[in-house]
Amino acid sequence: MSAQVENVVIVGTGCAGLTAAIYTARANLSPLVLEGSLPGGQLTTTSEVENFPGFPEGVDGFMLMQSLRKQAEKFGTRYESGTVTGLDTSQWPHSLKLAGREIRAKVVIIATGASPRMTGIPGEKELYGGKGVTTCATCDGAFYRDMDVAVIGGGDSAAEEALFLTRFAKKVYLVHRRDALRASKIMADRATSHPKIQMVWDSVPVAVEGVAAGAVSGLKVRNVKTNAESVLPVKGIFVAIGHVPNTAPFKDAVDTDENGYFMPAAGSQVKTKTPGVFVAGDCADHVYRQAITAAGMGCQAAIEAERWLAEHGG
Ligand code: NAP
Repeated sequence: MSAQVENVVIVGTGCAGLTAAIYTARANLSPLVLEGSLPGGQLTTTSEVENFPGFPEGVDGFMLMQSLRKQAEKFGTRYESGTVTGLDTSQWPHSLKLAGREIRAKVVIIATGASPRMTGIPGEKELYGGKGVTTCATCDGAFYRDMDVAVIGGGDSAAEEALFLTRFAKKVYLVHRRDALRASKIMADRATSHPKIQMVWDSVPVAVEGVAAGAVSGLKVRNVKTNAESVLPVKGIFVAIGHVPNTAPFKDAVDTDENGYFMPAAGSQVKTKTPGVFVAGDCADHVYRQAITAAGMGCQAAIEAERWLAEHGG
C-alpha cells in the first residue's frame, strides 16, 4: 500500500503548531496536524493566561487552545492523532514514521514543545500520577483541599503553581535550591508575600516519602548551606523545575544542541539545515518560551514553509 503524501505536516498542537496551521491553511496548503499525547500542548495545563496579547481580563489556557484549533480548522486544517517516532529525510517527500504507518510530507514543521523535567529523586517515579507526585496544579490541585503540599522549583512555573495551590491547600511549601526566586518580580513578590506559602530556601529535594504505603507522606529536603535534612509533612508534591524539549524522534534528521533543543540554520529562528524541515516553539527555543513567542515562531515557520514549497514544486 502506498503511503499518504501531504504538502505540509505539522507535528504538535501547541501555540506554535496551531499558528503554523492557521497560516499554512490560509495559504491553501491544506496542512495535516498530528496530535500527540497532549493535544493543545502545555497551555492546556495552565489556568489563567494573563500575558497573551488581546485578553485584558486573562484567558483560560484550555479555551485559548480550543479557539486556535477551531480557527485553524476553519481554513482547512486537518487533524489526525498519532505519535511520530522517527523522521527520514534521505528521500523527498520526507517520511514520518508513526506506529504501524508512514506519512510522506513535502514540508515538515516540528512544533513538539517540551515536557516537564523531573528531579529523579527516589520515590518520585513510584508515586507519580494519582499517588501524590504531579507536575500540574491546575489538573490536580483540587485533590489537596485543606492539606499541606510542596512545590519544587524557583521559576515562574513554580511561583504560579504555588499561588494556584493556595486556593485549596492549607499550606504550600515552596522549595527552592537558592535564596532568590528566578521567577519574574511580580510573580516572586506575589508568592513570597502570600500568607499560605512558606518559602524553603537553599533546599534541594532528597526523597519522596511514602512509597511503601503507595501515597506521598512527605518530602525529604536538604539545606545546601547547612547539609541538614528535614521532612516536610506533605501529601502532594508539585514538580516545577523546567522542561526538556521533545526532539528525540527527530535527532537523526535535524541538528540539536547539547540540551536537546533544535538548532536552526544560521540567520533564521525556524529554518533548519535539513531542506523542507522547519521548527517552532519550545522545542527550538530555550530563551523566551512564551505562548506568544511560540505562536510567532509558528507564523514564521509557516511563511518559510510556504516559500520553500513554492520554490521546490509544492
Ligand atoms: P525555569 O524558568 O527554567 O525555572 C526552573 C526552576 O527550577 C529554576 O528556579 C531552577 O533553579 C529550578 N531547578 C531546575 N532544575 C532543578 C533541580 N534538578 N532541582 C531543583 N530545582 C531545579 O522554568 P519555568 O519556571 O518552567 O519557566 C519556563 C519559562 O516559562 C520561563 O521563561 C518563564 O518565565 C515562563 N513562564 C511564564 C509564566 C507567566 O508569565 N505567567 C508562567 C510559567 C512559566 P535555579 O533558579 O537555581 O536555576
